Amino acid sequence: KFTHLADYQPPAYLVDRVALDVDIRDGVTTVTSSLSLRRNPAAADSTTMTFNGEGLTLRTLALDDVVLNSARYQYEDNLLTVRGLPDTCTLTSVVDIDPENNTALEGLYQSNGMVCTQCEAEGFRRITFFPDRPDVLARFTTTVRADKARYPLLLSNGNPVASGDEKSHGEEGARHWVTWEDPFPKPCYLFALVAGDLACLEDTFVTVSGRKVALRLYAEHRDLDKLDHAMASLKNAMRWDEQTYGREYDLDIYMIVAVSHFNMGAMENKGLNIFNTSCVLAHPATTTDAGFQRVESVVAHEYFHNWSGNRVTCRDWFQLSLKEGFTVFRDQEFSADMHSAAVKRVEDVDFLVNHQFPEDQGPMAHAVRPEKYQKIDNFYTLTIYEKGAEIVRMQYHLLGAENFRKATDHYFETNDGKAVTCDDFVASMETVSGYDLSQFKCWYSQAGTPILTVTDEYRDGQYHLRFRQHTPATPGQEQKQPLVIPIRLALLDEQGAPCALDAGGNGAAEGEQVVIMDQAEQTVSFNVPAGVTPSLLRGFSAPVVLDYDYSVDQLARLLAYDSDGYCRWNAAQRLYFAALDRLVTETDEADAEAAALVPVLEQVIARSDEDPAQAALLLSLPGEVALGDRHKPLNPASIHRAHSAMKKALGKALQSHWLSLSENLLATELSMDGRAMGRRQLRNLALDFLAAGEHPEAGRIAVELFELPLCMSEELGALRALVHHGLPGADQALMQFADRWQDEALVMDQWFAVQASVPGAHTVDQVNRLLEHPAFDWKTPNRVRALVGTFTNANPSAFHAENGQGYQLFSAALSRLDAINPQVAARLANGASRLPVLEPGRKALLAEHLAGVQKTASDNVAEVLGRILSS
Ligand code: ZN
Repeated sequence: KFTHLADYQPPAYLVDRVALDVDIRDGVTTVTSSLSLRRNPAAADSTTMTFNGEGLTLRTLALDDVVLNSARYQYEDNLLTVRGLPDTCTLTSVVDIDPENNTALEGLYQSNGMVCTQCEAEGFRRITFFPDRPDVLARFTTTVRADKARYPLLLSNGNPVASGDEKSHGEEGARHWVTWEDPFPKPCYLFALVAGDLACLEDTFVTVSGRKVALRLYAEHRDLDKLDHAMASLKNAMRWDEQTYGREYDLDIYMIVAVSHFNMGAMENKGLNIFNTSCVLAHPATTTDAGFQRVESVVAHEYFHNWSGNRVTCRDWFQLSLKEGFTVFRDQEFSADMHSAAVKRVEDVDFLVNHQFPEDQGPMAHAVRPEKYQKIDNFYTLTIYEKGAEIVRMQYHLLGAENFRKATDHYFETNDGKAVTCDDFVASMETVSGYDLSQFKCWYSQAGTPILTVTDEYRDGQYHLRFRQHTPATPGQEQKQPLVIPIRLALLDEQGAPCALDAGGNGAAEGEQVVIMDQAEQTVSFNVPAGVTPSLLRGFSAPVVLDYDYSVDQLARLLAYDSDGYCRWNAAQRLYFAALDRLVTETDEADAEAAALVPVLEQVIARSDEDPAQAALLLSLPGEVALGDRHKPLNPASIHRAHSAMKKALGKALQSHWLSLSENLLATELSMDGRAMGRRQLRNLALDFLAAGEHPEAGRIAVELFELPLCMSEELGALRALVHHGLPGADQALMQFADRWQDEALVMDQWFAVQASVPGAHTVDQVNRLLEHPAFDWKTPNRVRALVGTFTNANPSAFHAENGQGYQLFSAALSRLDAINPQVAARLANGASRLPVLEPGRKALLAEHLAGVQKTASDNVAEVLGRILSS
């Protein structure tokens, strides 16, 4: 059942060329494939080769044009085994598939009348027989045939080389075909095909060497006005990759197709990206500011894969982070360059610590390069993506910008056209820098979040910082090694000014030092006056939990004076967490806790005009999920009580500020620049606090904004305030909103999500009602995520309702979804990962429900639930 990294074997045969013919008809699609096979000189001697194939109806199989005798092959357990192959040969197969009834959305499937593909990780085997593994790179030629009226557009990877009308059934012109040729060898997970009737936004990009590239963005006709932002983002990304990494685009055409039914965010198929509509469509009237930023970063991410993923790909799926971690790092840096780098870093760290850390500390914990898996789909995780990006970021800082660029040049040049491993990536870093990164590589193999404990003392006229690291055991990995932890630090004196430090050659900026920790315990001494405040892990220089016993005064000093955006934000979070923790465990004096925070928060508010987005981040209270993770055993109801008491108390204590921010930040004209977005973010936050504090003006402000919004961020911010705080007019607004936007699927997703995230146990009933709403659809992953996903992952007080009704809803939804789409169901199943830390009553209830689901679960869901239930 498990696939193990240690079992890797090269394939017995390589595929040099593939000729595909995909004949799309009502009721059946017929795929004819000719594979030019060649014995792999790097593999053990064998004349037998296996090809993956799932759910294929085999019509004929021929070797070098001779139909194969059934004794020579066998198709069993999703594997086609062919024996007695010569050194070079052509294997031709004809199979039937059924895209119309493909609800798993892997392989070839239908979405709103168009036909499209998703092949990563193992979807190609649902289209035709093939060695479906990333280390088999082949040149593809693809002919697509379909009805001309329904599918005027026929797309695949590469360049169109021929096309024509079919003369079938005497009806000349009713059907047509197009042949595409991709000159670059690629693994089959990068194959793509689209057939449909789509609108196109076209532009051109001239590469640095002067080549003209046609950029074509496709969507349903009604969405043509939502493609401009993706186009601008794409052009920015293309230029940025030339300037930052020296990487130029390599085909004459770059296409993106927007699809309504999609399991993930987007897919980097060579020359033909396929995107979830939610990651490519954007218009101020229908898309929030966060949505705009997401589109920009996903468009860039998939574009960057053309080099980090496509030109240089993965040897096997254990190396997934080779392309994903690196590409996330690249897209993070791109967004940082396009906007405010400080804000972007805080957003990324916020996401990592609140989502990847819990994964790394729970039942699904796994290494960035895992050792085994059952379903690779379950390993497209925050650990592979986000922690993987942090590991690349640490190497960037260890080497410095200049050497890192030399290393990536070396990596791309030496590995172009190859399928390689994470070791090859690190080897390039070592080669150009001369560093020995052997111990550093532990980051790839060791799961779990390290805890960095820091203590300090002033002794003999010196300041001593003592660092200790410890990584708690994770499932299947008891023993942990000390990691290489780069600790960027500064020391602030009592006035908040940085002390002069000996930079010491590790790429530290002025007033900073980088301590490279590589033992379990290390002490570093500084010649500085007494009374300093350590500013630690600046820029979040390593993905670790920092354990240092900051005093309130020290945190206030960091928040007020530190020049590092991450450390300021972290100080604010620590102040909030300390107060919230006391409300969970010791006191119910929320007003007193809030009053103590007022002076520091007032300072942040006073400076909020400097950078409204950063102020919004600094003022944001940690969520209930993050707070809950600090209290074991977990009782989500008491977490919710403490959290809402705190929010209400802060709402009251700072109400005049919230009121003026809510009113004064109102824009009169729509702008989509970073500052305008930051102001909207801060205003929405202020409105939320104002309503939490039960201010009599909150309802009026929200309704006014809701009636005449300039953009979706305003409209949704107002709706959220009304609905989450149960203000008068909330029901009316929900009805109006649904009325306004019933034809805009992505906006309706927000409508479902707003309601699913209303805190409190009563929301279970509302979600149950919404599951019956005519606009709810089990077959649309975005809709299921908006309702069930939001409920499960972003609303702990409802999901964990004491009576178990949230679990009942969840488990029924999980089983129902699993029957049609195991991949998305398995993601949803991760929502139960707090099981091991729940208080006994809820734990027993949830476990019982999960065990029920497990009885009929798909392999995907069974792997996730198995890990949760056995932890
Ligand atoms: Zn990716």
